[in-house]
Amino acid sequence: MTIVFKVSDNVKQKMIEYYKDVRREKTPPYAIFQAMEADTIITLYESGKAMFQGISADIDANIWVDMEKKLNNRVIDINEPKKEKEKYLEELNYFYSISTVGSDEVGTGDYFGPIVVTASYVDKEKIELVKELGVKDSKKLTDEKIKKIAPVLIKEIPYVTFTLNNKEYNRYQSIGYNMNKIKAILHNKVLYSITHKDENYPYQKIIVDQFVYPKKYFEHILESTEKVTDITFTTKAESKCASVAAASIISRYIFLAKMDELSKDLGIEIPKGANDIVDQVGKEIVQKYGEAKLEEIAKLNFKNTEKIKEL
Ligand code: MN
Repeated sequence: MTIVFKVSDNVKQKMIEYYKDVRREKTPPYAIFQAMEADTIITLYESGKAMFQGISADIDANIWVDMEKKLNNRVIDINEPKKEKEKYLEELNYFYSISTVGSDEVGTGDYFGPIVVTASYVDKEKIELVKELGVKDSKKLTDEKIKKIAPVLIKEIPYVTFTLNNKEYNRYQSIGYNMNKIKAILHNKVLYSITHKDENYPYQKIIVDQFVYPKKYFEHILESTEKVTDITFTTKAESKCASVAAASIISRYIFLAKMDELSKDLGIEIPKGANDIVDQVGKEIVQKYGEAKLEEIAKLNFKNTEKIKEL
């Protein structure tokens, strides 16, 4: 195991003293010393960062945790990994400082309407603009806000989008592709497309909102001949990364337009989601256009299909 924490100056001095006889010959860059005691390697850095590595690293680490408590009344919790919030903020600050390609999808939880996946490229220089539009919490934006913001993004930000209609979705399902596989295939498709345009975007990272473990993601796209592999997967990516946020908003915008179109075509207001109202509307559609219509406009493997047929 590896334990890392920062020690105060007075504890630093104590550590230097304590390990002086078990110091290793080599000192890593920026380190004051590296020592070996029992099975544990102890490295103290100039910055005050102390690192303990080994099967029983906690034994040595605890000496200094206790010392911090005693000398400085500081409580260090070595059992807890880096705080979730801290890690989140670190990533956010980083992703909002570099040029990125990011992708996000919409429609996977909606019985009606297509799945829309978008990849966008947000250059460092455009991050401020994306921020000003208020895209950071894209999940919380109302449909009205989306309709206002998205046209600006579409004008300013390069993107590639793909819409999977439900006929195709249902065909994928019938050959055994589950939702995650479909998502992986679509993300890969738009990511490949945006990173292989005539224009080379100088992105530093490709960020994907993590919906499966990376290993699984790459299993899902095994048969895809054109693959993007240098991906950074992270959860809540749409709130940490401008290109994922932009992709999320553009996807939602296109999805909303498709839903409006569908409502117009059918002469019935088509609801989002997969709740009871969806079942009611589904029943109406079946009465008006017949059961076969669902195959075109709905995700048949959702439980809603059975419920609609029972109504
Ligand atoms: Mn997402």
